[in-house]
Amino acid sequence: MSETAEVIIIGAGVHGASLAFHLAERGVRALVLEKATVAAGATGRSSGMVRMHYDVEAEARLAWRTHAGEARFTGVGFLQMVPPHELGPLRANVAMQQRVGIATSVVDADEVRRLLPGISIEDDQAAAFEPLSGYADPTQTTTSLMAGAVARGARLVQGCAVHAVRTAQGKVVGVSTSRGDFDAPVVVDAAGAWAGRVAASVGLELPLNVWRHDVAYVQRPPDIPRHIGFIDFLNAFYSRPEGESLTLVALEDGNPLQGDPDAPVDAAAVGFIERAAERVVRRLPQFARAGIHSAHSGQDGITPDQHPIIGPAGPDGFWLDCGFSGTGFKIAPAVGASLAQLIVDGPTANPDLALYRLERFAEGKPIVGEHPYGPIWY
Ligand SMILES: Cc1cc2nc3c(=O)[nH]c(=O)nc-3n(C[C@H](O)[C@H](O)[C@H](O)COP(=O)(O)OP(=O)(O)OC[C@H]3O[C@@H](n4cnc5c(N)ncnc54)[C@H](O)[C@@H]3O)c2cc1C
Repeated sequence: MSETAEVIIIGAGVHGASLAFHLAERGVRALVLEKATVAAGATGRSSGMVRMHYDVEAEARLAWRTHAGEARFTGVGFLQMVPPHELGPLRANVAMQQRVGIATSVVDADEVRRLLPGISIEDDQAAAFEPLSGYADPTQTTTSLMAGAVARGARLVQGCAVHAVRTAQGKVVGVSTSRGDFDAPVVVDAAGAWAGRVAASVGLELPLNVWRHDVAYVQRPPDIPRHIGFIDFLNAFYSRPEGESLTLVALEDGNPLQGDPDAPVDAAAVGFIERAAERVVRRLPQFARAGIHSAHSGQDGITPDQHPIIGPAGPDGFWLDCGFSGTGFKIAPAVGASLAQLIVDGPTANPDLALYRLERFAEGKPIVGEHPYGPIWY
């Protein structure tokens, strides 16, 4: 006889783990099926940046609700730097975030110089400053959520690849996997870069590409202390310290799309390290003395508007929790809490996630901020 659960979650990344935790907290028997191991996908490769600066209010709210929940959170602070022509949107977005309750303010170039010593910045540039932001350990966050879920009655099966979602008379009845069939009336697709393949098994064609992103770690010379984290729109890169002696650097441009979700991710692209080093030295000339430590790559599902797809879709009982487009780590605990509420209490129970429904693409209504900066990845 096949094993039954109330909800099957496909994928034990940070989103599958968060949903399992929040369902288990509500007393729902969740079964998480993971083809590899916990955090084997995007989550385990994630830069773990935790910031609240979004041009979409719903995302800023989700990030703020989450930010106390990550494991091994390091509060180094965060600067969102923009070029002079984006100062208007920056001010408007900071005002929106302040209304949400987020600790953030606009700071001028002199204050940026104080917060990030050694930075090369023109007087007409400015930034949003978030004193409470920083970074967390995505693998640790996910294993803690998963352990919390299991302690509350959820079950995790690793090394179990879902081949197809099974339906009968238009309703989900379970999944077939490399370890046989499992039954449940609700199945959630939290399969990251592979989510399109899972959805195809119920006849859904998701507007989802595979986004590939390289990350470099540089070794700081001993006289460059741990620094604040930042995103620099002008130079299209972001950076944060990693522990006491390393600095992470990654680029917003040159992230290829439409790759293979199974492509190996151990090595960064040829030439990436040189591009990353040039970018960081442009802003922080003292890094010309830094050494290269290592680099890796990672892949996430990305949608055309670079925002996730969350909610019911296709046959009764099938839910999407995917397409996090390279920015999904920091919102996972809040998304899992809201989605668990929707699954248990019905789609009208919580309006927080309504924005992320799949239908927006077919309706030609992509998510755009009120004071948009444009796409983060290009
Ligand atoms: C290099 C990189 C840097 C990033 N930096 C940041 C950042 O600084 N801040 C931020 O907020 N976000 C960041 N992100 C984005 C964030 O990490 C992702 O949005 C998030 O981790 C996605 O989590 P997930 O659970 O949806 O997917 P994943 O972590 O990819 O999990 C999906 C899981 O599903 C499993 N799976 C797939 N198919 C099947 C199947 N058929 N059967 C069973 N299991 C299956 C996979 O093995 C995988 O473990 C980054 C992403 C990358 C790649």
